[in-house]
Amino acid sequence: MTTLPATLAMSGKIPGIDLHMHSKASDGALSPTELMHLCLERGLGRVALTDHDTVNGIAEARQAADELGIGLLPAAELSTQWTNIGVHVVAMMPEGEQSIMQDEHNPLRQMLDTLWEARSTRAYTIAERLERKGLTNALERARACAGGRLAIGRPHFAAALVEAGMVADIKMAFKRYLGAGKVGDVRLHWPEFSDVVRAIVAGGGIAVLAHPLRYELTRRRLVLLLDEFMAAGGEAVELCNGHQNDDSTRDLARLLEERQLYASVGSDFHKPGGPLAPGTFSALPRCRVAPIWTHPRLVPWIDATEASTQRIITQRQALEASYAAHQHDSTKEGDA
Ligand code: AMP
Ligand code: MN
Ligand code: MN
Ligand code: MN
Repeated sequence: MTTLPATLAMSGKIPGIDLHMHSKASDGALSPTELMHLCLERGLGRVALTDHDTVNGIAEARQAADELGIGLLPAAELSTQWTNIGVHVVAMMPEGEQSIMQDEHNPLRQMLDTLWEARSTRAYTIAERLERKGLTNALERARACAGGRLAIGRPHFAAALVEAGMVADIKMAFKRYLGAGKVGDVRLHWPEFSDVVRAIVAGGGIAVLAHPLRYELTRRRLVLLLDEFMAAGGEAVELCNGHQNDDSTRDLARLLEERQLYASVGSDFHKPGGPLAPGTFSALPRCRVAPIWTHPRLVPWIDATEASTQRIITQRQALEASYAAHQHDSTKEGDA
């Protein structure tokens, strides 16, 4: 018995896997260890950690994953700019991140170094711009919100704006100051989309276009983006990332099918308590797109994690059944 469908021809909910999640190594709320524990609780046996522009959380995540019997796929979500928008590309590293990071001539390692610097430079620019809008000591405030972590991003500036009382919540902070086209949406520092995809491929990673529906592109521009992605060596696209509109997802599936791109899935989980938990994403549409777990370079990982994933899923199902029975009992008690 296999836990993952070999094709998406009879799709729907996919058990036990999540290939897009964040930890404290970037803008997630949980440490990599805490994240792996939550994944186990949620019944996930195969996960990718995809922190923004860094693999810094991978070593800790791997240690926890090994202890818990979870299969961890090393990855990172790389920032790029494409025309006038910011586009993200996940780099999966099925043969491990160590050989990539230890080789200073590896193009993917070099790209991650470049992105790290770009993020720091960008933080200064965002801070300057927000100071002009009235947020004094913007960088210090964002650093404090980042709680000692090195990678500062827009979410930390958003938290600083909230703390300073300039906006009511994070959502408003993005709407007014940091979202697409706003003063704090600084993209100039990110490398070109195609260059990033090429570096991932040349460095031995698999390039996965992240959440294409979130860029709110016209269909014509979405097609352009996919074609540029493929021309640069991109092989897979996130068909489902978190919650999506079903019609748009079906249309995206058609585009992937025509181009023979692999489909990936993930929650884009950042923090507990929100609408997304590890393992939650919209059901995959019925289509002829090949799932990324049939990619020849991922098959060994999928096979190696089959038994442990089965065990984790079974445990989760037992837990859910006992919870449901308990609910049932307490309802009956309530009736009496
Ligand atoms: P950065 O990588 O610094 O550009 O920050 C991008 C991150 O900000 C995304 O990965 C999300 O976690 C978060 N983000 C983007 N847009 C929004 C939004 N409208 N509301 C809340 N968080 C957002
Ligand atoms: Mn994020
Ligand atoms: Mn993203
Ligand atoms: Mn993400």
